[in-house]
Amino acid sequence: MRVKLSKTFSFEAAHDLPTFPDGHKCRRLHGHSFKFDVVVEGEVAPEKGYLIDYGDIKVAAAPIIKQLDHYYLNDIEGLANPTSEVLAKWLYGKLKPALPMLSAIVVYETCTSMCEYSGH
Ligand SMILES: [Zn+2]
Repeated sequence: MRVKLSKTFSFEAAHDLPTFPDGHKCRRLHGHSFKFDVVVEGEVAPEKGYLIDYGDIKVAAAPIIKQLDHYYLNDIEGLANPTSEVLAKWLYGKLKPALPMLSAIVVYETCTSMCEYSGH
């Protein structure tokens, strides 16, 4: 049985988006309550009946959230241009080594705006 499962995390952070056009509101310093889903995918071993302990995803994500929460994202290495797209790829790169089954990162910059990155 092949499944996908996900766990959602959140953090608060400020950013500005330097590649947006002059005068665009996203160029001004502002903050978001970011959310992101960590999606893992794989085969469920019948004798176990589960893919991964959700707690293991939390353990993998915790140090990364600590790096982001209540920071100015543009100051973080690799996030000089912290669009949802760049952030999704950054999170994917940070989490993949600890979570080989990682299949996608979905970043929610607002309740209605999301970006999914699946590693290619
Ligand atoms: Zn923004």
